[in-house]
Amino acid sequence: MAKKIPMTSASSDISSLLPCGSFLRFCEIYLPQAPQIFTYGIAFESLIQRGSVVWVQLGNRKATLGLVAKVHTNAPAFDVKEAVAHASNYVFDERYMEILEWTARYYLSIPNRALFVFWPNEIAKYLDVFFSRQGQDTSLEVPKRLEVSVQPPLTNEQSLALDKLIPLLDTEGFRGALLHGVTGSGKTRVYLELAQRAIAQGKRVLILVPEIGLTPQTAARFSSFLGFDVPILHSALSAPRKREIWLSLLENKAQIVLGTRSAILTPFPFDLVILDEEHDSSYKQQDPSPRYHCRELAFHIAHKYGALVVLGSATPSMESFENARAGHLLYLTLTKRATEMKLPKIHVVDMHRKAPLQQSGLLLSPELREALSTCLQQGNQAIVLLNRRGFSKARVCADCGATLHCKDCHIPLVYHKQHNGLLCHYCGRLYPLNTPCADCGCEDYELVGGAIEKLEEEILEWIPNATLVRMDRDTTQNIGAAEKILTAFRDREYSILLGTQMVAKGHDFPHVQLVGVVGADSGTGSPDFRTGERLFQLLSQTAGRAGRAEEGAQVIFQTQNPEDPIVRFALTHNYSGFAQLELSERSEALYPPFCKLAAIEMGCRDEKILKDAAESVASKLSKAENIQLLGPVDAYIPMVQKIFWVHFLVKAKSASAIREALSDLLYKSESLGVPRNVEVRLDMDPQ
Ligand code: ADP
Ligand code: ZN
Repeated sequence: MAKKIPMTSASSDISSLLPCGSFLRFCEIYLPQAPQIFTYGIAFESLIQRGSVVWVQLGNRKATLGLVAKVHTNAPAFDVKEAVAHASNYVFDERYMEILEWTARYYLSIPNRALFVFWPNEIAKYLDVFFSRQGQDTSLEVPKRLEVSVQPPLTNEQSLALDKLIPLLDTEGFRGALLHGVTGSGKTRVYLELAQRAIAQGKRVLILVPEIGLTPQTAARFSSFLGFDVPILHSALSAPRKREIWLSLLENKAQIVLGTRSAILTPFPFDLVILDEEHDSSYKQQDPSPRYHCRELAFHIAHKYGALVVLGSATPSMESFENARAGHLLYLTLTKRATEMKLPKIHVVDMHRKAPLQQSGLLLSPELREALSTCLQQGNQAIVLLNRRGFSKARVCADCGATLHCKDCHIPLVYHKQHNGLLCHYCGRLYPLNTPCADCGCEDYELVGGAIEKLEEEILEWIPNATLVRMDRDTTQNIGAAEKILTAFRDREYSILLGTQMVAKGHDFPHVQLVGVVGADSGTGSPDFRTGERLFQLLSQTAGRAGRAEEGAQVIFQTQNPEDPIVRFALTHNYSGFAQLELSERSEALYPPFCKLAAIEMGCRDEKILKDAAESVASKLSKAENIQLLGPVDAYIPMVQKIFWVHFLVKAKSASAIREALSDLLYKSESLGVPRNVEVRLDMDPQ
């Protein structure tokens, strides 16, 4: 795609190197993904300043857009090219610049990479439109009024929480609150009232939800409460809609934005940020770096710019709960459901005792089957969760019993009926089902361990009148697919919503009277110190979808470990019991929130080079002060797409100690004995 290059003056030529004597001023420029920060010259009449968006040319490549980090008069000892301001003369403000730089620094990354993550691909286009609209009427458009929905009176607990929150809108300094409200306690209503107050005071509000699938439901509630359309921002928007929202941000017109993770990276100077379902791991960026977490970024903005941060959850993260306990966050609770419904009763089905069932390969216990039938007969809806994609867990050789793995990744292949083959969940490569055994060449096989596609078949077979919709990564690949499924289920086109952890998130479906969790066990996903926390959250959140508007709802956990303390706590809705146990274990073993943690991942196609590099890093870093180094160990999945990976953990009292110890690894890894063909990934506060 060719970029239009609007020049400030017709004579500008940014492609030629000029002696630095041709310029009086110079600038240092962040360029998305560039290996370093480059210096360019500034023409005499140019208005370029820190935060300016400029066109520059890197080598012989096409002109690209960069962001000015610094303007100075120190002539470099080499020839430079000219940086030309974008025709719009747009300047990102100091807050934006500082947040970008802070994110890069805190998350052990560099501003160039951060800029790549902060800027949308279409930034040049947006600025062109911004420019073309300049001079037009830019007064605030009066948003179209919508009919305001009538609200029931606040519950006592909601009023109490609001009485504490509203004054914080006007307090100085850092302000943060944790709204810990059981599932269905009406946390959203608290956000609505608070946002309305903030907007009435002329403040700007950012609302974050963890999943794109949750944006329509939440936006609809905000729009009908506030009486105007609340703009939504996430990665799956159509190009024109995304552009309109970005323009409203560039033109400084937006008062409220609702979005997913990356919305916090926009040039939107909010005064209040609400993170709903704050425990959700989707708030953490995985790739590319910087691997930021919205909550941490929100805290930074709260400290530095005085924005009020409100975190909400039925199952707060250990970090937030500990923060509240230590008095850093105002702790507010909603202990009852807003609709006066009780939390649902949870039953456990002990699958360990059901050996014959297991041998027959059935996933669905008679108890859950029965409950599903009854639920549907009564005209209600049900949600069933099985957190495993595909049809079966593994394919084993009928002859030698070996499990078939991906050739390029060290993980077992999963049979997907939908894709008619064996899928590698890491690299996405699809193999034919009859791929010969890698050990003995035999083509006969058995499929072992059931997954969600199999459960779908079982349910449809056993409960003939069921209408079922499945929601997992495989059915939601297309833009808008998840939204469609959720809307159809809400409109009662289906009686059963079967899904992976996607269905556990904050959905509010009033007719769901039964929730079943198949495989309510830890040990799905990589084993780490958060396994228990994730299981508790998953079980509690999924259970919380049941009985939100009617009495008599039921939840069934099928588990191999009915005595697992985490399962017990989830059964009795005992968050504080869980948190106490979890925090005491973490404090003993020194894990977050009682220390700072970073992960180092090193990858290379050559296993020997990788191991040598890892040894060298280990020996150098083990001498570093104020940190504790764990590893190297093989990564949880030791090979991905033919690249071998090893993994370290770094523990320290503070993030700055980690930053100091790892800075060589970030900026000059060669000095630590890491050759160029070894990739190093750093992750602060890894999930
Ligand atoms: P949470 O986000 O805490 O799980 P929601 O905000 O989704 O809970 O609210 C759960 C249900 O309770 C929703 O259907 C909502 O309309 C209803 N609700 C919220 N506040 C009240 C209230 N004050 N009176 C009656 N119903 C309420
Ligand atoms: Zn693979």
